[in-house]
Amino acid sequence: MEIYEMREFDGHELVVFGHDASTGLRAIVAVHSTVLGPAAGGCRMWPYTSTTAAVVDVLRLSRGMSYKNAMASLPFGGGKAVIIGDAPKEKTPELFAAFGRFVDSLGGRYITAEDVGTTTADMEAVARVTSYVSGLGRKPGEAGGDPAPKTALGVFLGLKAAVKFRLGRSDLDGLGVAVQGVGGVGYHLCRLLAAEGARLRVADVRAAAAQRVCDEFKAVTVPVESILSEDVDVLAPCALGAIFNADSTPRLRARVIAGAANNQLAEDKDGQALQLAGILYAPDYVINAGGIISVAREYYGGGTEAQVTAEIHQIPGRLTEIFERARRENRATHAVADQMARERLGRTDRKMVA
Ligand code: NAD
Repeated sequence: MEIYEMREFDGHELVVFGHDASTGLRAIVAVHSTVLGPAAGGCRMWPYTSTTAAVVDVLRLSRGMSYKNAMASLPFGGGKAVIIGDAPKEKTPELFAAFGRFVDSLGGRYITAEDVGTTTADMEAVARVTSYVSGLGRKPGEAGGDPAPKTALGVFLGLKAAVKFRLGRSDLDGLGVAVQGVGGVGYHLCRLLAAEGARLRVADVRAAAAQRVCDEFKAVTVPVESILSEDVDVLAPCALGAIFNADSTPRLRARVIAGAANNQLAEDKDGQALQLAGILYAPDYVINAGGIISVAREYYGGGTEAQVTAEIHQIPGRLTEIFERARRENRATHAVADQMARERLGRTDRKMVA
């Protein structure tokens, strides 16, 4: 595998492969940038079909964390970890302890937290062996805990800003929203949207997760294959990445995309295709920063939940600034956001890659 030559490498500072024979741990940590602070980003556990697929994912996610942390003005650089494995079947506290020792061996250059396939309980197992972890249980009123509801709040507020900008509406009453993936973030996003009268269509590969949202929030389930092309006002991707590509974009009917999933664009040109189609895309790493804002407050200590909430309320303003600049300069929103993030990272010299 030619890692340095990969398009996704993008000047990463560090890529480390970890293995623990007794637990079977196979994990990769990628540190994209520590210019703004120690690299922080969650740990994803996923049954990757190949090591190359895991490397590509961790590099894309890690760079996304650099951009996310920079745009949220957090004292963090960008990094990410992946554990190769099927979370429901292969997860054990011992595996996460081994992962924690791996993270500890990096001496604080990388700070971990939850992502797809990992939970607060897993991070507590990590915390028994290293202090370079956040997203742990906390007392009421204190900053921190499971980042997913915080991410959902930021997406909800950002979605409203995008709806205001593109559709000229300040309320969500009767607005059609399709949510792809109703796990940790998607579930809470549905709760917030339903409370303001949005009509929800949801899809999840786990039928029970979709059913729960239908029962609790009067959502309607649609097939996983058709959720992206539902005839709705807003599409909220809250599952995995690379979903907007040459195949899916021509079939989209929503006029706003505002969701939590990381790396929604398969490639840069897919952001341009959305712009040409008249679809307003809320850059993923700007709208989904709520969780890392909470993780940062928790990690550095002394913060309250109210402070976290106040910081999350800054997300819609950031997005509106990007939307306005994109309109003024007739550019795609992701290109404007990428440029702003890279300027903050001091990487203006490098060619941007998708
Ligand atoms: P999660 O694993 O709890 O939920 C993801 C859900 O998507 C699961 O229910 C899964 O069954 C479903 N899913 C997977 N593939 C699907 C498909 N093809 N169609 C429909 N459903 C599918 O993860 P999460 O924490 O809710 O994160 C969701 C997304 O948001 C991820 O891309 C994650 O990286 C991103 N994100 C999460 C956070 C956070 O705080 N958890 C923060 C920022 C970004």
